[in-house]
Amino acid sequence: MAGLLSRLKGETAGGDAADAGVPVRAFNNASRAALLKSLESSDLGWFWATDAAGHISYISLPAAQRAGKPVEEIISKPLTDVFQAVEDSDDRGTQRPLKFQLAARNSIKPVTVEIDMGEGRSWWEIAAVPQTDDAGNFAGYHGIARDVSDTYESTRDAEKLSRYDSLTGLSNRHRMSHQLGATLTAFKASKRSCAMMLLDLDRFKQVNDTMGHPAGDELLKQVAGRLQRVLGDGVEIGRIGGDEFQVIIPDEDDRGVLGELATRIIQMLSQPYSINGLRAVIGCSVGVAVAPFDGIEEEELVKAADLALYSAKGGGRGAFRFYSSDLRDKASYRHQIESDLRDAVARDELEMHYQPIVDAKTHRVACVEALMRWNHSDRGMISPADFIPVAEEVGIIRELGEWALHSVCETIQEWPGDIRAAVNVSAVQFASDEFVDIVKRTLKTTGIEPERIELEITESVFVGDMDRALRVFHELKGLGVRLSLDDFGTGYSSLAYLRDAPFDKIKIDQSFVRGCTAEDNRNDAIIAAVVSLATALGMETVAEGVESKDEMRAVTEEGATHLQGMLFSRAIPGAEIMERLESGEFEFVPRGPEKYRAERRTEFRKIGLIHGNDRYNVFLRNLSKTGAKIEGLLDVPVGTDVVVDLGGGQLAVACVRRSEGFSQGVEFETALISDGADGLCTRHRVSPYQIEAAGRPLRALNDEAVAAVTSGMHSNTKSFVEVEISKF
Ligand code: C2E
Ligand code: CA
Ligand code: CA
Repeated sequence: MAGLLSRLKGETAGGDAADAGVPVRAFNNASRAALLKSLESSDLGWFWATDAAGHISYISLPAAQRAGKPVEEIISKPLTDVFQAVEDSDDRGTQRPLKFQLAARNSIKPVTVEIDMGEGRSWWEIAAVPQTDDAGNFAGYHGIARDVSDTYESTRDAEKLSRYDSLTGLSNRHRMSHQLGATLTAFKASKRSCAMMLLDLDRFKQVNDTMGHPAGDELLKQVAGRLQRVLGDGVEIGRIGGDEFQVIIPDEDDRGVLGELATRIIQMLSQPYSINGLRAVIGCSVGVAVAPFDGIEEEELVKAADLALYSAKGGGRGAFRFYSSDLRDKASYRHQIESDLRDAVARDELEMHYQPIVDAKTHRVACVEALMRWNHSDRGMISPADFIPVAEEVGIIRELGEWALHSVCETIQEWPGDIRAAVNVSAVQFASDEFVDIVKRTLKTTGIEPERIELEITESVFVGDMDRALRVFHELKGLGVRLSLDDFGTGYSSLAYLRDAPFDKIKIDQSFVRGCTAEDNRNDAIIAAVVSLATALGMETVAEGVESKDEMRAVTEEGATHLQGMLFSRAIPGAEIMERLESGEFEFVPRGPEKYRAERRTEFRKIGLIHGNDRYNVFLRNLSKTGAKIEGLLDVPVGTDVVVDLGGGQLAVACVRRSEGFSQGVEFETALISDGADGLCTRHRVSPYQIEAAGRPLRALNDEAVAAVTSGMHSNTKSFVEVEISKF
């Protein structure tokens, strides 16, 4: 093409282009015309020219034919009408737009343009040199063109592939990151907000493992389809990893709307899927972060959504969470646990405690459940609910589990009688190929009678390879240990599993026992149903978490054969159990409240209250969607309008409805909404743009900046008297 170009230039200059080393003498004007003609009619290249105003003054006939138009129709049209800029946005970076090249009246470097052929389009590469008249004025362009549609389309497809996920057709990680970065930069300049959701499918791996990868792929496609349906247009959806999706929602900062949307996504994705005639059920967790509140830059916002997602997954399946700054604190706490846990065994910081499980009729201890305790050198007792999930995630649960089993087998052998002990087995341990061998070895080395050991297994092990699970159950039974199904009713429970699996005992989860005596509650019916099925299958039933006498009576009446809970005893050190047993005290007397009482959530949090130009420190006593009880100000008149500062930029306009001494009941103008966990939050927050406008640097919400702005105000005469309130 460059050779052609210089040749063109030579011709227009009118000289005898002798530069290319061609035997010029043999060429007269006639043969030169013939050469051009043959070139024009080949598809190697065509010619065109414009006048000074940029209107086409010449175009090769085959070019016009290719464009699907008579030459006359093209002549005198503006160049930019015929050769249109390529619309595809992602090409812009690589070529200088034609418009700019023309405006500068410089040489046009090869550029791809789009040709509207009436029906369809083609892509040409054009290049040109400017012409000048005798006086040296710009006189238009002489240029060449060639059809590059084939290569253009294939490179465009390749580029598309590099930006979209070939499986689902959604944007890929690369494109999402580009879009998010570009959106945030643009929105920062125009002070707009943008929400981002991260989605992670629950149990996708199990489907993939049990039904095969093609089925997993099909499932992902269906997930993508459902997402597109729920979210509609105006929202960018991407798949950014195996079963991770990302959604960018421009101009949305209402957490009420976002929470509803997240709930709808979770509901839609949790409906059963049909894959090659088979049914699959998965769930979905969602983390939500909003710019500029939770993050200004891309990295910050993604990190925030990631923490929110992590917390959503930790809170159980099928939940969403908004990012809040205490998630960051929790994450660092978890990090600490993770690094210390590795040394806990070596430092001898772990011990087993034992909670009695009593016979429902005699209240005599039949069995104890071994529960792990971590006595951390700096932090004191850490709950297994905090460290077991971490141990599962980082893989040391197998080590902990083996240690626990060993410790329990040794301990109970010293006890009088033949009390059994139940040991919790994590699904991660259960999935290990060595699990059965470890149990076998431990039984052998400690010499315990296998029937004194009961393994508590949760329903989650059913989700994986069902055949393997059944095989392992039978192998364990073959060793002589007993099996117990833990936390029944919380998970994937299908009563159908029970028929095939050789369980000796079912533990009805605390959530069914709790409040089973309350009136508006169907838990008692569920417990009765589980008990009758278990009885039919010859299994024992344990009601877990019995805290009050009315619960005890209810579950006993419904037929539970065993009871466990604080009403009888919490978990206590092995030595204490041994002492009791040695003194012949096998019976545990129920001690506790007569009636279960719904725990009233009382808060005691320092918050701010803004009235007029003043900001007061007050305590939040309790909080509901519609109002709050605050303490700390004396005699605030009923009807006073105030703003409650709940922290993290959450300001709620409210009115005092009740007032008594230093305690006030306020009603919010706009109801609070669920934060996805069991807390409440405001729909809207103070925007960091507002804080920036008050002269502070723009950054994601932090309490200091918000407090600094809201407490910038204070008058000399505060309207109310602040009183000291102590926590108790
Ligand atoms: P889990 O297996 O459901 O254990 C029962 C939990 O309920 C224990 O919590 C127990 O202290 C608590 N509990 C007992 N009675 C009552 C009651 O009346 N009211 C209330 N509110 N709670 C009651 P803990 O000891 O904090 O253990 C939490 C979870 O950690 C256990 O739940 C279990 O999943 C796991 N875990 C504990 N020890 C081990 C272990 O050695 N190995 C494994 N893999 N997991 C363990
Ligand atoms: Ca258990
Ligand atoms: Ca349990």
